[in-house]
Amino acid sequence: MALSGLLLTGAKVDPGDTEKSGHYVYPINVTSEKWFDYTVLEKSEMLRIDDETLKRMSDEDLVYAIADYPYLVDYLAYGEDVVMFSKSCSAIEELLSRETCADSLNRYSKQIIEEYRDNPRADGRSVVVSYLLQDIAESVSANTRINPNLSRSNYVYTPNYTPVYVTHPSESHTTAYHQAADADAVSTYGVSLVQQGSCKYNHHSYAWYSTSGSNTCWMLDPSPYMTDGSYTLKYSGGTSSSLYTYGVCQNDRLYYANNTHSAIFTGYTGGGAPFASYSATSKWGTLGVFVHGVTNVPAGCNYSTVSIWHR
Ligand SMILES: [Zn+2]
Repeated sequence: MALSGLLLTGAKVDPGDTEKSGHYVYPINVTSEKWFDYTVLEKSEMLRIDDETLKRMSDEDLVYAIADYPYLVDYLAYGEDVVMFSKSCSAIEELLSRETCADSLNRYSKQIIEEYRDNPRADGRSVVVSYLLQDIAESVSANTRINPNLSRSNYVYTPNYTPVYVTHPSESHTTAYHQAADADAVSTYGVSLVQQGSCKYNHHSYAWYSTSGSNTCWMLDPSPYMTDGSYTLKYSGGTSSSLYTYGVCQNDRLYYANNTHSAIFTGYTGGGAPFASYSATSKWGTLGVFVHGVTNVPAGCNYSTVSIWHR
């Protein structure tokens, strides 16, 4: 009877499973043995904290849950857009809905970063988590995010001479930050790093305009490349299809639904396997350029429908 009494009063009953010293513990994390047995979307679902629990969590609990979120590095993959990031990280989504958000983020981020300094995390992610927490706290306090619209802008041209709007954001991080963040993305997603992270160019720019590491163009919408005849459509549909009959080849461009991502098709060997099993090369937000499975991308990249373009 004591147990049901506890349940009725809403007291924490068995902290063993999901709660430890008052903080939320995710059911799976990067060091879990089975981490790579699940798809990104399956893991995103498992990492979603239910509404009832979220409402019950203190601001401090929420900031700890943000720090512990295994896909924290997605904040950079989404171009340092807190709102976009909050669609997958339920702890920050809840915190953003509270008036105390900015103050709490600042206070508890500092607290967490100091804790790491005295006692680094066993999983070795202290440095990158500290960087990211500080960034998110600053971004929310200033109520700003990297907004390429505000920086110097001009146009680049498609092969058929249609202007494409680009901006030129400045670099806002140290090399050490980018190295730590890229290393975290590599271990979280099991991808290979091709080119170090940069705040100066993004996925669309890498895939359609220039793969150079000294690219300085951030492109919001590459659709002119697909509408002016510079590239021709080879396939449009789901990623479970086999590409065998579509004549898709290496270096074709992959465009993910709703303008969410662009990549260069890399690992096509001409076989009949579903093309979700092939690899692509793409830049992830302000993170680096990675070789990755076509569907092994941050959950916000919509791979339910993609199109493939050839030049
Ligand atoms: Zn940067």
